[in-house]
Amino acid sequence: MGEKLGNPKNTIEVIQKYGFAFQKKFGQNFLIDPHVLEKIIASAGVTKDDMVLEIGPGIGTMTQYLAESAGRVVAVEIDNNLIPILQETLKDYDNVTVIHNDILKVDIAELAEKYNGGRPIKVVANLPYYITTPIIMGLFESHVPIDNITVMVQKEVADRMQEGPGSKNYGALSLAVQYYAEPYIVANVPPNCFIPRPSVGSAVIRLTRHKDAPVQTKDEQMMFRLIRASFNQRRKTLQNGINNASDLHFTKEQIASAIESMGLPPAVRGETLTLEQFAKLADLLVEL
Ligand code: SAM
Repeated sequence: MGEKLGNPKNTIEVIQKYGFAFQKKFGQNFLIDPHVLEKIIASAGVTKDDMVLEIGPGIGTMTQYLAESAGRVVAVEIDNNLIPILQETLKDYDNVTVIHNDILKVDIAELAEKYNGGRPIKVVANLPYYITTPIIMGLFESHVPIDNITVMVQKEVADRMQEGPGSKNYGALSLAVQYYAEPYIVANVPPNCFIPRPSVGSAVIRLTRHKDAPVQTKDEQMMFRLIRASFNQRRKTLQNGINNASDLHFTKEQIASAIESMGLPPAVRGETLTLEQFAKLADLLVEL
């Protein structure tokens, strides 16, 4: 069996052997700390019954750890320079499939069907930070059967995912993540655990999919439109935010009356509302 990656020496050796040049546009910061890798795998709770989707395997460091714990690993990598490297670093693992594609163009529900018979999958990744939000939102909104998502993200984004009303980081991402999942910050990870070092701090966050949504709404799509409308224009009142949204068509009077019947002041700002209040507001407005 070839040498295990996940430490600075072996990682640098592979990079030099292939003359690999890091591409900033793909958010390439490779993990070189075995403790962090072990912690990610353990907190994802990966077992031999699991199919794991890895987004952006890089040179295959975390993929090796995943292959040892999971039943099957499907890894999607965009950079064609990494494909021959992955063929070598993963050659000893017969439960790994590497797909050369952009994750945002992959039908993940179809992968879950093909490789896991449609049963819930786990997603584990050291994410490319430039597309963290579209990846996470895409996974939730596309109804892929998911158990949990355990990912390395920018520290500030991890904080945003678990904040509540009143915090400066609270936003549409916090509400969306909390509607679909239970967030838990597993570890903070400093820049020296990567090569090259990122300019920001990182954190591993686990998002465990709710079995039942924590709030009930008659119209999920309306609730998310209201959420986006109120955070798109942070300094505006909730009423003006909804009134100015191009995809919402309520009169000022209708909005004011819904806000009043919730017992909220007329000049309330959207960022003070809880998920439950957004659900209630959506129900009131769709009933008009
Ligand atoms: N998993 C490796 C590790 O931990 O060392 C690499 C992580 S690195 C932060 C992000 C990886 O995602 C890179 O390999 C990069 O090429 C890949 N990537 C970037 N954009 C992608 C996309 N749209 N689809 C698939 N992979 C992508």
